[in-house]
Amino acid sequence: MSIEVKNITKLYGNQKAVNAINFKINKGEIVGFLGPNGAGKSTTMKIITGYVSASEGEVNVCGLAINKQTIEAQKQIGYLPEHNPLYLDMYVKEYLLFNASIYKVPKSEVDVIIEKVKLTPEAHKKISQLSKGYRQRVGIAAALLHNPEVLILDEPTTGLDPNQLVEIRSLIKEVGKDKTVLFSTHIMQEVEAVCDRVILISKGEIVADKNLKELKENQAQVIEVEFDLKIEKQFVKRIEHIVEVDNFHDTSWTLTFNTTTDMRSKVFDFAHENGLKILQLNTKNKNLESLFRELTT
Ligand code: ADP
Ligand code: MG
Repeated sequence: MSIEVKNITKLYGNQKAVNAINFKINKGEIVGFLGPNGAGKSTTMKIITGYVSASEGEVNVCGLAINKQTIEAQKQIGYLPEHNPLYLDMYVKEYLLFNASIYKVPKSEVDVIIEKVKLTPEAHKKISQLSKGYRQRVGIAAALLHNPEVLILDEPTTGLDPNQLVEIRSLIKEVGKDKTVLFSTHIMQEVEAVCDRVILISKGEIVADKNLKELKENQAQVIEVEFDLKIEKQFVKRIEHIVEVDNFHDTSWTLTFNTTTDMRSKVFDFAHENGLKILQLNTKNKNLESLFRELTT
């Protein structure tokens, strides 16, 4: 087990930023930590990395208690904090060499990491001269230098332009091949693009912890259909697996089904059996984003 969060609560004054949360992350997983601003993502990550102590509860990283075996546990953690604090006046390579000396990592590692995060063309520039995307690479490089098992990335893609976004996502995927990664974001698509699993946090509480596959399978299936004639709602309700029927316009219906089986042919059968013609038919899967909104509002 790479990360174990057991019943963590964090109080700032009398405000509960995080309320009795629990999760476990296995070695090698890439997990998205998703939640709106102020949900408690950064607080949780600061507790996992040992930068802030929990008011209650326990965290183990690679089997080491973060509040007791702090240094040993931190050796297993690479952390990219929110807003990626860097020394802007330092050169990329200089900054990474400085980090290597702090971590007592051989200098030769710096070139390996620069190559790995594809910073080679920028390695001789000042950090202040880099675009946001390349600054994130420097932050990720610094987090990777001591070859930790666990990577904690706090909103690594926030503020990036679309091209940089794609590149940083694929970098996270790439480094995630041999690491355990927990990365936070407030954007659902981010999770879909990178992760196998999502932990959803809202108002300091975990509201969902699911495999993405499972989450997609559990989505409702919505079919919008227009018949040529007006019909009674009771009729429509006879179609199997139907859970919700909405007559949004004269002869147009929104049908919600609780099955993953494609229900379009059943709707055609229904029309045929009742002497109706279908003028239009669309399927609209409820996307993950609406699920996210449902769970967090
Ligand atoms: P997120 O990273 O999901 O946006 P945070 O963990 O930063 O959320 O914040 C969770 C809650 O705790 C917010 O209401 C925030 O205002 C509050 N908070 C965070 N840090 C502090 C702090 N140092 N002092 C007081 N309140 C804080
Ligand atoms: Mg945050």
